[in-house]
Amino acid sequence: MEREKVLIIGSGPAGYTAAIYAARAGLTPVLYTGGQPGGQLTTTNDVENFPGYPEGINGPQMMIDLQKQAERFGTRVHFALATAVDFSAWPLKVTIDESKVVEAESVIVATGASAKYLGLPSEETFANKGVSACAVCDGFFYRGKEVAVVGAGDSAAEESTYLSKLCTKVHLIVRRDEMRASKIMQQRVLNTPNIEVHWNSETEEVLGDDSGVTGVRLLNNKTGEKKDISVQGFFLAIGHKPNTDIFKGQLDMDESGYVKVIPGSTKTNVEGVFAVGDVADRVYRQAITAAGSGCMGALDAEKFLAAKEGLVAH
Ligand code: NDP
Repeated sequence: MEREKVLIIGSGPAGYTAAIYAARAGLTPVLYTGGQPGGQLTTTNDVENFPGYPEGINGPQMMIDLQKQAERFGTRVHFALATAVDFSAWPLKVTIDESKVVEAESVIVATGASAKYLGLPSEETFANKGVSACAVCDGFFYRGKEVAVVGAGDSAAEESTYLSKLCTKVHLIVRRDEMRASKIMQQRVLNTPNIEVHWNSETEEVLGDDSGVTGVRLLNNKTGEKKDISVQGFFLAIGHKPNTDIFKGQLDMDESGYVKVIPGSTKTNVEGVFAVGDVADRVYRQAITAAGSGCMGALDAEKFLAAKEGLVAH
């Protein structure tokens, strides 16, 4: 059976940064990319908030660069899926593509999270052409324009408030007659003159043409009334789902499925398993914070292995 010192699952900024650090520490990590090589950033156009790129950088290009940087120091990148794990004993075991089992002395979990979408075909049609699940990433492109935000939690409240400073008007689409967001964030929304809340409203369709999104068709679920609003941007803020299905029953998670780590570290409840990036972060969810925690994960793994080396002869 293959045995690895550091096995990284996931290929977003967290996974690749962990790989860069682990590789430079001489640990020759192996990284399994998962089904969406490059992670969520590959669904973004320009990334303008990652320090060090004064002109911004195209999201997919940034991920290619991170991969190259990780490979330059000896990371082996495999385009394959981790389909099961067995963390019940050490060395840890990871099944790849439902067929091969690899032993690992340490595992860095960097599987990220996926934004939830409504599931409308028109959302897919206009993905990257006006439909976005990240206001902080993409809001800037809608300066001086009208946009819609779907959701009623803290994310929707925060993203609408954020967008209201850039856009002429924000339409907040709420499916019930109340919001789930904390009172203070709701107040902020209701007190912002250029945010209009559409209560009891569901998105029936995202409208658009060759130029991208041009509007949204709303259905009032109380009255049955339909109306079209004119917007150029359509933002989803209906929550994220951490990609943790394969770790259920093995890693401690919170009620939403985010991996729990010991605060101030990337250590999980299993010795030798570290969680980095969005899979363990329901609050910040930025490329730069993911990269930072990837670095922490590699340093934690390195320290763990050094301590283990002292105890286990190889
Ligand atoms: P939440 O799960 O809290 O809220 C999701 C919202 O989306 C709900 O209001 C829900 O509506 C709505 N929704 C879900 N599915 C649909 C759908 N199909 N159509 C329309 N609306 C839908 O997710 P958030 O991302 O807002 O927050 C996640 C966590 O992160 C929370 O714990 C939150 O407090 C925290 N957070 C904190 C922040 C802060 O403190 N600064 C900022 C952002 C998030 P309904 O209410 O009807 O179920």
